[in-house]
Formats: sequence, C-alpha cells, structure tokens
Amino acid sequence: MEQLKTAIVTRRDALIALTQDLIRIATLNPPGRRYHEICEYLQARMSPQGWDCTLVRAHGAPGDSEDFPRWNFVARHKGARQGDVVHFNSHHDVVEVGHGWTRDPFGGELDGDRIYGRGSCDMKGGLAASIIAAEAFVALNPEHAGMIEISATADEESGGYGGVAYLAEQRAFAHVDHVIIPEPLHKDRICLGHRGVWWAEIETQGRIAHGSMPFLGDCAVRHMGAVLDEMEATLWPLLAGKHTGMPVIPEGARSSTLNINSIHGGAAEQAEDYTGLPTPCVPDRCRIVIDRRFLIEEDLAEVKSEVTALLEKVKAQRPSFQYEVRDLFEVIPSMTDKDAPVVRSTAAAIERVLGREAGYVVSPGTYDQKHIDRIGKLKNCIAYGPGVLDLAHQPDEWVGVQDMLDSALVMALVLDDLLGNTKIET
Ligand SMILES: [Zn+2]
Repeated sequence: MEQLKTAIVTRRDALIALTQDLIRIATLNPPGRRYHEICEYLQARMSPQGWDCTLVRAHGAPGDSEDFPRWNFVARHKGARQGDVVHFNSHHDVVEVGHGWTRDPFGGELDGDRIYGRGSCDMKGGLAASIIAAEAFVALNPEHAGMIEISATADEESGGYGGVAYLAEQRAFAHVDHVIIPEPLHKDRICLGHRGVWWAEIETQGRIAHGSMPFLGDCAVRHMGAVLDEMEATLWPLLAGKHTGMPVIPEGARSSTLNINSIHGGAAEQAEDYTGLPTPCVPDRCRIVIDRRFLIEEDLAEVKSEVTALLEKVKAQRPSFQYEVRDLFEVIPSMTDKDAPVVRSTAAAIERVLGREAGYVVSPGTYDQKHIDRIGKLKNCIAYGPGVLDLAHQPDEWVGVQDMLDSALVMALVLDDLLGNTKIET
C-alpha cells in the first residue's frame, strides 16, 4: 500500500489541476453545454498515456440535438494478461448554478483544502480521483491483468438516457465485471443502490361552464381537492408506516415517500406583462404530478394500485368524477449484495486507508446505477467517491483535496486487489 500511497500523494498537484480544469469546462445541463469539449479534454490527457479513448455521441437519445449533442467519453487501458474488467463511471454534466454563490462557480478556486465550483463535488472531483487512481496504479503495474475503463458520461442529472443508458444499450458493459461510480457519497461509505421511482400525472376531469353559474359545470379542481383530502387521510399515513431494510440515508427516506411536484387547474397562468383580468370559468381539468419513491420490499404494480384504489374510492363518493393516470417515469429499486466482489474489495480498501470499517448506505434518489443494473444486466456495481453529498447542487459547492486523495488511494487499492500482480503471487 505504501508504494501506491506515494504514487497518489506525488500526484496531488496533478489531481488539483485536473479537478480545476474539469470545473472550468461548464458542462451545464440543461441544456447540455460543452459536452464535446470535456470529452476532448479527457482524450487529450489520457490518450498519450496509452489509454485507448473513444468519443460516443448518443444519437437520437432524449436531449440529443445538433445544437446540444450528447457526447460521452470512454477510455480503456488493456493489461498484459487475462483478468477482470474494472469500470469507473462518472457523469460529466452539472446542474444549473442557482443563487447564493460567493465564489466563481466555474473558477475552480482552491482555498485551503477546498476546490470550489459547480460540479466540484457532484462529481468532477470523483472523476478526477478515479483518473489519478488509475494512472498511479498503471504506473506501478504496467503489466496488470484484465482491463481498466474510465467513462465520463452525459445527462446523469436528467435521467442518463444520453449517457450511461445509451452506452448500456450499445452493450458497453457486456464485458465489464466491476463498476464503481464515484458519486460524492463520502470517502468512508459504500453506496449499494437506490430506492425506486414512479412519477405519474393524475388528471381529474369536469365540465367547463360560466363561473357565475358553477352548478351548470363540474369543477375539476374540487375533484382534485377530494383526491388530496383522501391522500392526507389515508395514503400518507400508509406510506409512513412502510419501513425498509435498505440502509437509506438520510433516515427519513427509510419509509416510502410521496411528493406532489406540481398542481395545475383551470385557465393557464397569465404572462407577467398581461394587465387584464382572468376569465370566469369552471375548471374542467386539474392535474398533479406525483413523485412516489418506493422500497425494495415493494412492488411497482402494488405501488400503482394504491393510487388507483384511492381514486376509485373518491369516485364512488363523487358521482360525476372522472380521472386519468399517466405514467411518466419508473425505476425499479436497485441494491447490490454486500458480498459482491466490488463491495468486498472496496470495504477492505477503506479499512486499510482510513483505519475504520466502511459504512453501507443506499441513496434516496436514483443515479446511473439503474441503467447498469437494468440495461447492462450487471449487479456488481456501487457508488463510491469523495465529497459531501449534501453539498451537491448547492451554492458554493466544494470538494476536499484530502478526501479526493484518500478515495483515490481506496480506488487504486481496489485496482490492485482486482487486477494487480500481488494476487498472482499469493
Ligand atoms: Zn452526481
């Protein structure tokens, strides 16, 4: 371990510079800016060091257009003999800046141990740490086994369809044995997976009429009010009573949850510069978008039937009530077994580097593991990387240099365990 540690520590300046360079390429999503540029930057860095680099555009994927093409980067370092394939996958896109910054969001400013910028923590710091880890490992083990892959992919923040999902559909994970996603889950924790998601739009339907004679119409907003009342009375208590064995953090997310993302009813809201009055109409449509997060112990069909049962109950009490439910998005929960090879190897490395046992967590929301699991059919996948999750998407986001160095050493030790020469000798 000492040799690898030295190899990482001597790359401290390179790690900082790499992280800063990545932050300074403002890969904002939406709309998906400068994706090609960040892929070219990575190619220019890794290609001269013997990495076989490919740029892949997700032609026709959601979000892909001539103005904002969805570019992805994959680098491969082939070993000298047969062995496993270890893949590090990071997303290169970042979310909007938002308000409240006291630092330049795309300056990559280093202040003490911290590098500031949008995407520093989520997750350009993780991408940089995995590259430095692989470079340090390869320098010490040019004859390593198998293959190391590093990808930087598009659109994780908007579902990953122009990124990991596209690559998985092209069978980019078919030959891969182990996947580490360096999302900012903290250097001493292994994230095994995530809860499930069901987004749906519920529409209540009525009949339009003049607002002075509402009895001639049928108000869709009042129907929706009855739906919301029923949710308050029965659905939220039901969900709060469902608990999971998944180690989800924060703990509040160890129950099923439901958020109402939006509500719209009646006439559309007027433009800000409109100076007239609204018209008097009975709303004939009201829509809500629900965001239901479910547990590995739950079944998606059952999750959906809870909502339809509730709507049927309201319908039975309101003779004219009509509704429609439209599915928008669904993700099945994913959780890697604690005994999976990549989990065991990472846990052992964390213990060696940090002198304490690894923690195991599950994410309340999803990330690209869903595509690797479902499309790539690969279960041996975790998220592990530097950074404090709470800082993601916040103003003055930062990543700690020491955290990056520590997690880079963990990743290098995992490579050593899975592809190193020591394995052969023992
Ligand atoms: Zn992320």
